[in-house]
Amino acid sequence: MSVLQRIVLGTLPLVPRPIMRRFASRYIAGETIEEALARLQGLNERGYPGILDILGEGISNATQAKEVTAQYEAAADAIAREKLACYVSVKPTHVGLTISEEMCFELYARIAKRAQASGLFLRVEMEDAPTTDGTLRVFERLRERFDNVGIVLQARLFRTLRDIETLAPGPLDVRLVKGIYLEPARIAHTEPEPIREAYVECAKKLCERKARLCLATHDEILADRVLELLRAHGRDATTYEFQVLLGVREELWEAWKSQGHQVRVYVPYGADWRAYSQRRMRKNPQILRHVMRNMVGLK
Ligand SMILES: Cc1cc2nc3c(=O)[nH]c(=O)nc-3n(C[C@H](O)[C@H](O)[C@H](O)COP(=O)(O)OP(=O)(O)OC[C@H]3O[C@@H](n4cnc5c(N)ncnc54)[C@H](O)[C@@H]3O)c2cc1C
Repeated sequence: MSVLQRIVLGTLPLVPRPIMRRFASRYIAGETIEEALARLQGLNERGYPGILDILGEGISNATQAKEVTAQYEAAADAIAREKLACYVSVKPTHVGLTISEEMCFELYARIAKRAQASGLFLRVEMEDAPTTDGTLRVFERLRERFDNVGIVLQARLFRTLRDIETLAPGPLDVRLVKGIYLEPARIAHTEPEPIREAYVECAKKLCERKARLCLATHDEILADRVLELLRAHGRDATTYEFQVLLGVREELWEAWKSQGHQVRVYVPYGADWRAYSQRRMRKNPQILRHVMRNMVGLK
């Protein structure tokens, strides 16, 4: 990344709202559920099932956590009403994990129950390392009551291989990610190649556990290694899928889909779009270049 790009990264929070909004539209469906449903409908028509995420995290009181829960319940109803191929994905701190683990469990259980009534799945997402234990405890309790709930595991964390072993027996549905939080070297791999190797190791352990695998990555080198592993385990295309972020490397989705793999697209929406979009732009120097040109008045 160039020095200029680094400077622009630092000034992203100052970019005027209309410019940010225009570039964010690549990564988010919009601010309202209606916009999200329309985007999901379009993706479904192109052969991509979806994952609906309401943007936000780290809420600061129980009232907010309950509001978020109600939004997810309404979203699950809307997905079912519109007959969309899609499920919901919820961050633990968005439903109050850091306020009260018990409340977080209860709110997830509400969403799981509502989703179950419509035949929908619920994914418990994974955030930074201080929340991992609490998230896994909440997930294990949900698993005792519901069969429509899955988890995210982060390959970069050293602990993940052990977590795969200690999760209770029974059906398991895992979205495997590299992990977006830059954790310290004493608890996590920090370099690209060791993270890839850890990802393949985790995938192998999950195959041995006969878990359903959701490969959430845009790294084709890694994907090829995992596909080889899946072939060696005799996995057919119904036992795994790729998961990708809206706006990221669409050419890869097409290639994977045309090879017969299911590809599911993560569709975030909501008022809290700015922080999410900035995280995405930090990853993409090309988009940053466009933002820079717009900021200085060049189209
Ligand atoms: C569906 C989905 C759900 C996720 N859920 C979680 C979660 O719950 N918890 C968690 O910690 N992490 C989550 N992640 C994020 C994940 O941990 C990685 O940070 C992210 O996927 C980038 O890693 P990568 O495997 O794509 O590899 P990378 O090596 O980061 O990227 C591979 C290639 O894709 C490009 N690329 C990657 N991301 C972007 C981007 N945003 N914009 C433009 N180009 C990009 C890179 O430039 C590179 O060329 C999720 C990712 C996906 C796809």
